[in-house]
Amino acid sequence: MTKPKKIRIIDGIPICSVFKPQGIPASDLQEIVMSIDEFEALRLADYLGLEQQPAAELMNISRPTFTRLLGSARKKMAQMVVDGKKLCIEGGRIELRRHRCRFCGREWQKPSGFCPTCGEKHQPGFSGKINQ
Ligand SMILES: [Zn+2]
Repeated sequence: MTKPKKIRIIDGIPICSVFKPQGIPASDLQEIVMSIDEFEALRLADYLGLEQQPAAELMNISRPTFTRLLGSARKKMAQMVVDGKKLCIEGGRIELRRHRCRFCGREWQKPSGFCPTCGEKHQPGFSGKINQ
């Protein structure tokens, strides 16, 4: 029996969800799937440089879970580069972080750093469509 996975809170979805080596037909490429929560762990730790404990708290998961997600994401990145595989970023039990405007109090969950009511800028996020 595995216990149900906790929902991971993320700040945004990837700008680009498919990465493919140039000049190789798609039919010859092996595909690696990175979940969006793995991507978020990689973004927080390796892109933003956060320590694992605060990064795990941001995602609402335990530190061991964060470490496991990060390790898996790093391995997939390495496989993509070393083996020349196609990488797709999709899926995972995720929920976008809720933003609250400090001026008008409006709450929203879109991956946008701007309040939909008054346009005030908040933390930076990604732009893109949610495909879940
Ligand atoms: Zn507002």
